[in-house]
Amino acid sequence: MKDIKRVAVFTSGGDAPGMNAAIRAVVRNALHNDLHIFGIQRGYQGMIDGQIRRLETSDVSNIIHRGGTVLKTARCPEFLTPEGRKKAYENLLYNDIDALVAIGGNGTLGGALQFAQEYPDIAIIGLPGTIDNDLYGTDFSIGFDTAVNTAMQAVDRIRDTADSHNRLFFVEVMGRNSGYIALHTGIAGGAGGVIIPEEDMDLEELVKLLKRGTARRKLFSIVIVAEESRMGNVFSLAEQVSKRVEEYDDVRVTVIGHLQRGGSPTAFDRVLASVLGFHAIEALLAGQTNVMVGIRNNQVHHTPLEEAISKPKKPGKELLRMAHILAQ
Ligand code: ATP
Repeated sequence: MKDIKRVAVFTSGGDAPGMNAAIRAVVRNALHNDLHIFGIQRGYQGMIDGQIRRLETSDVSNIIHRGGTVLKTARCPEFLTPEGRKKAYENLLYNDIDALVAIGGNGTLGGALQFAQEYPDIAIIGLPGTIDNDLYGTDFSIGFDTAVNTAMQAVDRIRDTADSHNRLFFVEVMGRNSGYIALHTGIAGGAGGVIIPEEDMDLEELVKLLKRGTARRKLFSIVIVAEESRMGNVFSLAEQVSKRVEEYDDVRVTVIGHLQRGGSPTAFDRVLASVLGFHAIEALLAGQTNVMVGIRNNQVHHTPLEEAISKPKKPGKELLRMAHILAQ
């Protein structure tokens, strides 16, 4: 592996709070080690379009507390094609880039792996930047904690209304194919039920759970539902349940949606992003490539990109069992 001198950082896929803190840490540690550091605008799209510019320490001043990403992000269908990736490679060569730090979710790291297999002369480190927390090899991804806190605050507000009106609320939170946000929001928000794609809960079980509450005169409840569940979407679920459980005065649905993506990152996400961004540069300097830098049991952990994107990561069964018991 050649010496690393010129590194480019980018964010890609869905934005996640804390991405800016990660960019800042990558830039500052790179400069600390006398590397030249570049920012690529709009993820793979900017790589293809040549939107690559030199970054200095002042470019990342005053961003640690901001949500979104100052480098912008994009979904880029052209990068799925060999021609698109070739254009991206040529732009990197033009700028003499010898290493990349890719911050994003499963798709972004999958793209990084594909690129690495075709152009192994460019070293790549991935950082888990997604509110979904669905990447294997890290206990937490950048943005997850903030998204859970935002959803929890929404649930706290809904609780006031639910209680005052004796209502059953179904609250849909984000997380395509991943129940992490729903499960953690459910536990933190004291929900009466949590429905996630990783679990085979059926309508009968949900009805039983709610009836357990109404039997002891609990006349409001909040059920947290992940974006995709095996029982259909949140609206059809609410309709089916309202026909079976008649004790509530009303049944309502709230979809929190994109509110969960934005906002200032929590202290946890800022620290996590700073640690991972810092260690992305450490990993490159140590000669590492094609790994995702994550955190496991409070220790920095390197996982091959291939494993990070392909191995399943599911919420622990024990946590789910606990959530159901505490929901009663
Ligand atoms: P989030 O978890 O927030 O959805 P993500 O990183 O998974 O973020 P995607 O839209 O799935 O977001 O992927 C981001 C981009 O990565 C895609 O638009 C595409 O350019 C690139 N990408 C995804 N999969 C591949 C692949 N198999 N090969 C090449 N590029 C890919």
